[in-house]
Amino acid sequence: MALRPWLERFAHETITIKGRMSREVELTKHLVAHPNVPVHFTDLDGFEAAANVWSTRDRIAVALEIPRDELLRRLLEAQAHPKDTRVVDHAPFQQNASDDVDLLDSPVPKLYPGDAGRFITAGVWVAERDGVRNLSFHRIQILDGRRGACRIVPRHLRHMYDEAMKAGEELKVAVCVGLDPWSLLAGGTSVEYGVDESRIASALTHATLGRPVDMVRLRNGLTVPADAEYVLEGRLTKETHAEGPFVDAVRTYDRVRQEPVLVVDRIYHVDRPIFHIIVGGSDEHFLFMGMPREPVIYQAVARAVPHVKAVRLTEGGCAWLHGVVSIRKQHQGDGKNAIMAAFGAHTSMKQVTIVDEDIDVFDDRDVEWAVATRFQADRGLVVLHGVRGSSIDPSSHDGFTSKMGIDATKPLGGDPAMYDKASL
Ligand code: MN
Repeated sequence: MALRPWLERFAHETITIKGRMSREVELTKHLVAHPNVPVHFTDLDGFEAAANVWSTRDRIAVALEIPRDELLRRLLEAQAHPKDTRVVDHAPFQQNASDDVDLLDSPVPKLYPGDAGRFITAGVWVAERDGVRNLSFHRIQILDGRRGACRIVPRHLRHMYDEAMKAGEELKVAVCVGLDPWSLLAGGTSVEYGVDESRIASALTHATLGRPVDMVRLRNGLTVPADAEYVLEGRLTKETHAEGPFVDAVRTYDRVRQEPVLVVDRIYHVDRPIFHIIVGGSDEHFLFMGMPREPVIYQAVARAVPHVKAVRLTEGGCAWLHGVVSIRKQHQGDGKNAIMAAFGAHTSMKQVTIVDEDIDVFDDRDVEWAVATRFQADRGLVVLHGVRGSSIDPSSHDGFTSKMGIDATKPLGGDPAMYDKASL
């Protein structure tokens, strides 16, 4: 199922806004006011749209039919053991297909006053080149009825685009909006080039529903998830255009860059489609950006210390720059090895806090308590200078950053009466 059945599933907590709402900035106030419940607009300048649908770990866990603390292991399993998808003959979105494309006559919103314009933010792109299929998120700034400037970060889609340009070709793409959580989680996953992320989605549906993800072939030959509310079929061209400013994960305006132009040739949508909006820097953004990185950090730290309990990229750290890892410490120095491993696994991270397994990594106050009662900067702090870090951190210089690791684990052999919380 795509978006509408999920909104019905979460109807008890969904805020439905029935009055006419402007897609230009006015909607954002409601989304920022209700960051952790689904918000459903039934009349966004005449269109239906929803945001904050997947804004809590609990709701994603409900969809995957697992307890919240199993999410990391489920994602790890899916990333480690992708499964085949299944190609079906027909998808509901193929009922409404039009070559008469007008991106302006659409629910695509302008979210913040200083944004360069209206942006598609929840689009998972599908592209194929030399037998490799790739799924990834990229925002699209609408330029006119058929064209958009697209922030193609220097990862897999950018590689495919560069290869196409070198060969003098355009890159055929499809952008899917209003997907299931498994395709959204897969779209947010960074695995090595050549791994088809739709197979990660399929591993998730296998584990939850006992079936593969259904895919369907479009007119341009690409195969995309069948359960999407909207699909745009088009081409990344050699034309570039200014993209941005746009409020991104760190909630500041991302700068203007020259980026490739997408030309949309055809739009598909289901009957009564719901357009999915992800607000930059919202918890929903964080879950599809940061949560798929947590298994990668888990695996690396688990190679360095014997037992890792939990990993979290924190919302306060934009679910990208700051993390917390809880471990069962068995040797003096385990905390610092965990710091090194975590930084190696997620190079964008600039602060990691290592805690013992009695600390709840999902509780910011508990983590700070561990730092307050178990950490001394003269022996527990690791500072690295001049490391390449994240480009989204405004305080970094040309991508170079300093990193801080905080070993807030108890000293081994310390008196438990000194360090353990009293219980009743
Ligand atoms: Mn990829």
